[in-house]
Amino acid sequence: MEKKLIMALDQGTTSSRCILFKKNGEIASIAQREFTQIYPKPGYVEHDPLEIWSSQLSVATEAMAKINAKAEDIVSIGITNQRETTIVWDKETGEPIYNAIVWQCHRTADMIEKMVEDGLGEYVRNTTGLIPDAYFSASKLAWILNHIKGAREKAKEGKLIFGTVDTWLIWKLTKGRIHTTDYTNASRTMLFDIKNLDWDQKILDYFDIPRCMLPEVHPSSYKFGETDSQFFGGPVIIGGVAGDQQASLFGQCCFNEGDVKNTYGTGCFLLMNTGKNILQSKKGLLTTIAAGDSDDVDYALEGSVFVGGAAIQWLRDGMRMIKNAAQSEEYACAVSSSEGVYVVPSFTGMGAPYWNQHAKGIVVGLTRGCSKEHFIRATLESVAYQSYDVLNAMELDLGKDITSLKVDGGASNNDFLMQFQSDVMDADVIRSKCSETTALGAAYLAGLAAGFYESKEELISNWELSNRFQPSVKKEVREKLIKGWKKAVKTALVWAEEE
Ligand code: ADP
Repeated sequence: MEKKLIMALDQGTTSSRCILFKKNGEIASIAQREFTQIYPKPGYVEHDPLEIWSSQLSVATEAMAKINAKAEDIVSIGITNQRETTIVWDKETGEPIYNAIVWQCHRTADMIEKMVEDGLGEYVRNTTGLIPDAYFSASKLAWILNHIKGAREKAKEGKLIFGTVDTWLIWKLTKGRIHTTDYTNASRTMLFDIKNLDWDQKILDYFDIPRCMLPEVHPSSYKFGETDSQFFGGPVIIGGVAGDQQASLFGQCCFNEGDVKNTYGTGCFLLMNTGKNILQSKKGLLTTIAAGDSDDVDYALEGSVFVGGAAIQWLRDGMRMIKNAAQSEEYACAVSSSEGVYVVPSFTGMGAPYWNQHAKGIVVGLTRGCSKEHFIRATLESVAYQSYDVLNAMELDLGKDITSLKVDGGASNNDFLMQFQSDVMDADVIRSKCSETTALGAAYLAGLAAGFYESKEELISNWELSNRFQPSVKKEVREKLIKGWKKAVKTALVWAEEE
């Protein structure tokens, strides 16, 4: 029988999912399972690597069983994963020596402070494209080697290996035969030289991480290996691997320089393809590797909004103003403007381009006429303003205007928010029919490696529009809105300064 499906394994922070895609990008089957979040201490976040594996394998077999698919029906597997999360395991027994330290975990903040004091900040920035932070894998891996008895010695003897979640899943799927990752995941470890495409010895030495622990690195679309027959009743090629945000950039077909996407989830993640340019942001954005099918990689600029959809969750759970996220749209549309009310939801500090970790949220511009509707509308608008700030930083770094933005994620279903985004950025906002662009990106990478798709052009022809939102306000209105937002941000920054 002709093979006809691609399997995307989407290993996220709170759940493992599997989607089986048809060639045209339609979903044939889907299964999802949440797994345990472990919080050993305040600020510590861990996952059990064996639970990550078992949940991922079980959703894969479930998705297949739902439509009675066999290994022979699957052309190739694509993996996309929560990035930066760090696992160390024994090469012989396959046993993890510690839980996975999750990207959100800030236990190594002091190691990063020390690294910057030691004068490595600029070096890390130039080599890895990242701003030194405990989010990335480097200090997490060093923490495990520092805290687990005998770990560093064993690692030096070649008995322990490291991987991000993609590496761990491939190692399990191939029964320990293959220890590998892709450029996108490597570029989030803070150990990888994104220009020379190799692990960086100076940073490895700084953290005393033996090079022999690290996986081989390949393009995101590549024949990484074959799964062991035991799992799916026959071997299947693993042909795609990419970190979640890069997979979504690929799934949105942002293949050209200047193409941008924004994923509106709990936070907002914006990535812009910058082609062969390794742009050093002047506004504190990160430089990273985009998913592709060759060693001649494309790069991307990345910026995020810490509180995106989370602001709407706050309206629901904290303020109890709405029953569900979708209701925010009804309230927002019940008034014709927010009447000068601005909500700045910097609950956990401010990210790009302001960077102030002491900032708190504020509400300004209240009058006696302010109603719940205005408050909700202003909160939704804040998601668009914050994204606008990041997009604006990207425009300045690239030296060109952004004329359109591809969108996905839960909150991108809010038409009011998308229209407002288009209005403030004065550019088209384009929502694709497929809402699962992250998994789709992994599937596309896998399909390309297996020859199921001939070229990226074929993928572009698969892409289907759901809605296009076009700017609908006059320049003066737009400028006034933005001016108000900037003033609100300035007020929040002043508030952060005061004792
Ligand atoms: P994540 O992958 O980060 O969990 P999702 O892509 O599932 O996020 O999106 C969920 C987030 O989007 C939540 O924070 C929720 O408040 C927000 N959200 C979902 N639907 C809407 C909507 N219609 N309007 C505004 N926000 C929404």
